[in-house]
Amino acid sequence: MAGAIATQTLREEGFDGKITLLGQEPNAPYERPPLSKDYLQGKADRDSIFVHPGPWYAEHAVELSLGGAVTSLDPASRTVTTAAGAQLPYDKLLLATGSEPRRLDVPGADLDGVYYLRNVEDSERIKIEFARAKRVVIIGAGWIGLETAAAARAAGLAVTLLVSGDLPLQHVLGLEAAPIFDELHRSHGVDLRYRTTAAELTGRQGSVTGVMLSDGTKIDADMIIVGIGAAPRTELAAAAGLKIDNGIVVDEHLRTSDPDIFAAGDIAHAYNPRLGRHIRVEHWANARRQGVIAAKAMLGQEAVDVRPSYFFTDQYDLSMEYTGDIGPAGYDRVIFRRQADPNQMIVFWLYDQRIQAGMNINIWDVADDIARLIQSARPINAENLGNPAIPLATL
Ligand SMILES: Cc1cc2nc3c(=O)[nH]c(=O)nc-3n(C[C@H](O)[C@H](O)[C@H](O)COP(=O)(O)OP(=O)(O)OC[C@H]3O[C@@H](n4cnc5c(N)ncnc54)[C@H](O)[C@@H]3O)c2cc1C
Repeated sequence: MAGAIATQTLREEGFDGKITLLGQEPNAPYERPPLSKDYLQGKADRDSIFVHPGPWYAEHAVELSLGGAVTSLDPASRTVTTAAGAQLPYDKLLLATGSEPRRLDVPGADLDGVYYLRNVEDSERIKIEFARAKRVVIIGAGWIGLETAAAARAAGLAVTLLVSGDLPLQHVLGLEAAPIFDELHRSHGVDLRYRTTAAELTGRQGSVTGVMLSDGTKIDADMIIVGIGAAPRTELAAAAGLKIDNGIVVDEHLRTSDPDIFAAGDIAHAYNPRLGRHIRVEHWANARRQGVIAAKAMLGQEAVDVRPSYFFTDQYDLSMEYTGDIGPAGYDRVIFRRQADPNQMIVFWLYDQRIQAGMNINIWDVADDIARLIQSARPINAENLGNPAIPLATL
């Protein structure tokens, strides 16, 4: 995502030099959000997921080299080497290698029928298995776990969801707002198991047959989906000696510790001058925004993006957008701005009377207002904030 947007920005900004976009996957750059939503549910076709239409790259003189990993990077000679042995020189280099799913490390984790979801092929394999399987256990109640649970229910499977804490998404939404997603999934028939993890996957003839939980309970399953988080793919950068700390460390212009190498998207632990600290964000909007910033920085422009982070999810009939970043200090107040329709609301997280983040559920065209309120960093009247009769734009 970040790489594709960077190439687009380079051309839009008038760069007429050579651009090569190297990708390990056989596919041209595509959007991942549909892989756990519409594409997984068969509601979107393959053509709709690509960042640019196929001919775009040739039309914009972007050399697209797919299906081969970059295996090393030498900042001293300014070259990258591919698995096929090609050596490519660069003047400026952007690393946008994304992240990879964390692997389950328990006995039986390598059995057939255990799935991870990162690439379009993973989504296609899971979709095929949904048509065959009857019972799925999903390990992990983060975004991937919840979205695949919704897709599995739509496909008619019995779904058990293992939650490591007290509630799904507890680490993102906190104890006040996480019950929204807990109730959503329970009301759609998902069997949520709390404070538990998989101790072992059981199998027969090489295929998974169930999960043994940490409390000794056994659950039968003919497929398992693992959604226990992702790790940034920093191996190239680390081997090249770039500074690594929770991703590749970059400044506000996305420049790494080498002035000719930039990093964007899931891998970038970027300095945010508004927050006064580095943050790393594994979301779609961040990859798009940083693709733009990195391209401009490679052209010598001092672009910075200080907008609050943004992401979205769709599960069953719930669509939500989340804007903001809860800092290390956390939050000290949660305000629910409820509408007459109980399916619509906005939740705000405040610290010291200032809005840190907002989540709008089944309400549209308010994310920009929420972002403005966060960026203003003004103390807010909590009573007005909770009153849906007072427009956000006037607060
Ligand atoms: C199933 C799924 C659903 C998601 N849903 C949402 C959502 O609803 N909302 C949201 O905000 N975000 C969502 N995300 C997150 C979002 O898709 C990512 O944050 C975004 O794709 C990150 O973009 P990126 O450019 O950093 O990395 P990626 O899009 O992952 O691209 C990195 C590319 O680099 C390639 N690569 C890695 N190493 C090498 C190498 N050595 N050589 C060559 N190529 C290499 C990879 O194969 C990959 O193709 C979702 C992610 C997934 C997996």
